[in-house]
Amino acid sequence: MAAVQLKDISKTYTNNVHAVRNANIQVLDKEFVVLVGPSGCGKTTTLRMIAGLEEISKGQLYIDGKLVNDIPPKDRDIAMVFQNYALYPHMNVYDNMAFGLKIRKFSKQAIEKRVQEAAHILDIEALLDRKPKALSGGQRQRVALGRAIVRQPKVFLFDEPLSNLDAKLRVQMRAEISALHQRLQATMIYVTHDQIEAMTMSDKIVVMKDGDIQQTGAPLDLYNHPINKFVAGFIGSPPMNFMTMTITEKNQKLWGSLDKQTLLLSDELTTIAKNKVSQQVIFGIRPESLIVNENAQKETSVDATVEIVEPLGSEVHLYINTGSSQLIVRTSPEKIYHPGENIRLTPDMRHVVLFDRE
Ligand code: ADP
Ligand code: MG
Repeated sequence: MAAVQLKDISKTYTNNVHAVRNANIQVLDKEFVVLVGPSGCGKTTTLRMIAGLEEISKGQLYIDGKLVNDIPPKDRDIAMVFQNYALYPHMNVYDNMAFGLKIRKFSKQAIEKRVQEAAHILDIEALLDRKPKALSGGQRQRVALGRAIVRQPKVFLFDEPLSNLDAKLRVQMRAEISALHQRLQATMIYVTHDQIEAMTMSDKIVVMKDGDIQQTGAPLDLYNHPINKFVAGFIGSPPMNFMTMTITEKNQKLWGSLDKQTLLLSDELTTIAKNKVSQQVIFGIRPESLIVNENAQKETSVDATVEIVEPLGSEVHLYINTGSSQLIVRTSPEKIYHPGENIRLTPDMRHVVLFDRE
C-alpha cells in the first residue's frame, strides 16, 4: 500500500517565488499519476517536496496516511529518477545499481539478486560491467530506472526521464515504463511537459500552470471536458481550435456569429449560452470534430479556404481560414485537398466547449 496525498501544499522559495500554490493531489495506491504543464509551472518543485528534497512551506504531505513533512528523504521509501540520469561516472552499471542497497546495508547476496533481477527486467544484463560513458542515452536511462527498481520503493518519482532521448526511443521507453508500472504494481508519480506522455501513460493527469493546479482527471476526461481554455489548448495535438463568437438571438434561436458568418447552436449549446446573448464567447472545437461536408446546410456550417495541406500518411491536417479564424482540421487521406480550395465545415456540436472570454 502506498497512497500519497498532498493537502494544500505550497512552496515559496527564499527569493519570494511562489513555485506551488495550495496543491491538492490524491495519488491512490498503484496509481500512475502524471503532473504536466509548461516549463516553470512547479512540477519539479512538487516532486522534490514529495521526495523530501525540498522543504514544504505550507500544507501537509501524507504517505499511506502518515504525515511525513518532517521525515528525511532516506526514510520515505521513495525512489526518484532524474532527467539527467545522475549516474556515478566512476562506477560501472552494476555498482551504480547496487549503491543504494549497499548504503542501506543489504547483504551481498541480496544485492546480487536484486540487481540481476532488475537488469533482466530492463534487458541490460550485458552492460553490467560498463561505465556510464560507454552507454547510449537510452541505456543510461535504463540504468537510472534500474537503480530505482532495486530499491523496491513504495513510490517511484520520475522527473522528465525521457526528455534527453530521441523521438523514437522516447516512444519505446514510454511503453516500457508503462509496462514496468503494470509489472511492479507500484505507485508512480511522473512529471513531464509533454502532454502526449501524460495522455498515453497516466491513470490520472494533474495539469499545472504558474504554480496552480488547473484540473485533475483521467486523460479522456481532460480531453473531452477541459475546465478552461488553458487545459483545452494544452491537452491534445494538433491543439483545440478556438473561435471568438458573439451569441445572437434570431427567429427564437441562438446563433454564434463570426465576422460574416453565423452558426446555429445546438439545443445543448443553447442551454449553456442562453444567458450570454450579445456577449462574446470562445467556441472550442477539436480538429477531428470539424467535418468537411460540401452538402452541409449553411446555417450549421462555416465556409473556409484551405491554406496548407499537411499529409501525415494515416491522416491529413488542413490549415484553413474562415475569414476571421485560423483553424486546423484533421481529416482522412482518402480525399485530396489543395491550397486555395474552398470548403464547407460542419462543427460536430456534441463536442463543442464554450469558454468565457478572458
Ligand atoms: P518545472 O519543473 O515545472 O519547470 P520548477 O518547479 O523547476 O518548474 O520551478 C517553478 C518555479 O520556481 C520557477 O519559477 C523556478 O524559476 C522557481 N524555482 C525553482 N527552483 C528554485 C530555487 N531553488 N530557488 C528559487 N526559485 C526556484
Ligand atoms: Mg522541472
